Amino acid sequence: MGCIRGRAGVFLAVVVTDSAEVFRLGTSKAKENLAFRRYLSAHHVGDKPFQLIASEIQKHIDCTACASCCRQSVVSVNREDIENIASHLGATPDTVTRLFTVPDPDASTLQVLRSSREGCVFLEGNRCRIYEARPKACRDFPHVAVGTHSLGGRLSSHARWATLCPIIYNALESYKHVTCYNAHSDHEPGP
Ligand code: SF4
Ligand code: SF4
Repeated sequence: MGCIRGRAGVFLAVVVTDSAEVFRLGTSKAKENLAFRRYLSAHHVGDKPFQLIASEIQKHIDCTACASCCRQSVVSVNREDIENIASHLGATPDTVTRLFTVPDPDASTLQVLRSSREGCVFLEGNRCRIYEARPKACRDFPHVAVGTHSLGGRLSSHARWATLCPIIYNALESYKHVTCYNAHSDHEPGP
C-alpha cells in the first residue's frame, strides 16, 4: 500500500484514543518500534515530519481522559518550577520542596516531585491540582513540539511511551506510513 499524504504531508490513520488499547497495541509492537527506530537512524530521517504528525494527533487526544504520563513519569523540578508552584499554592518554596519533592534518585542535588503507585503527588483523578503552575517537564511532555527536540535523541523514549501515551503511539504509527516503513521486511528479531 502506498503512502497517503495530507496537505501538510501528514498521514492521519485512525486515531486510537483508549489507553488500554494503546497499551495492548503498543506492547504488541514493542519489537517493531525498536526496529523502526533503527530504520529511521539508518535512513537519516528528519524529525520535523514526525513532530507535525504528533501536533495533528494531539488535537484528537483528550489528555484529561488519560493522565498516563502523570502516573508513570518521574518529574524533575528546578528552582523556578518550585517557586511557580509555591506562588500558585500560596506557600513558600521551602514548604513546597519539603512537602511535595524528594531528592532525585539519579542526581541527589536535584529534586523530583513526590509520587506513589497512584502517580504524581499533584494528580487528583485525571486532573493536575497545579495545572496552571505545572513544571516545565510537564508542560513540554510528550516533547514532540516542532523544532524543539531531535527525534533521533528521543527515539528510545518514544518506543517506550508508545505503550502509554496515545499521542506517541498514534504519531509513531502514522510516521511509519509517511516514511513507507515496511515492518515485515525490516523487522529484526529481538534480543
Ligand atoms: S505536576 Fe501535574 S501535570 Fe505534572 S505530573 Fe504532576 S499531575 Fe501531572
Ligand atoms: S501527554 Fe500522552 S500520556 Fe500524557 S495525558 Fe496526554 S496522551 Fe496521556
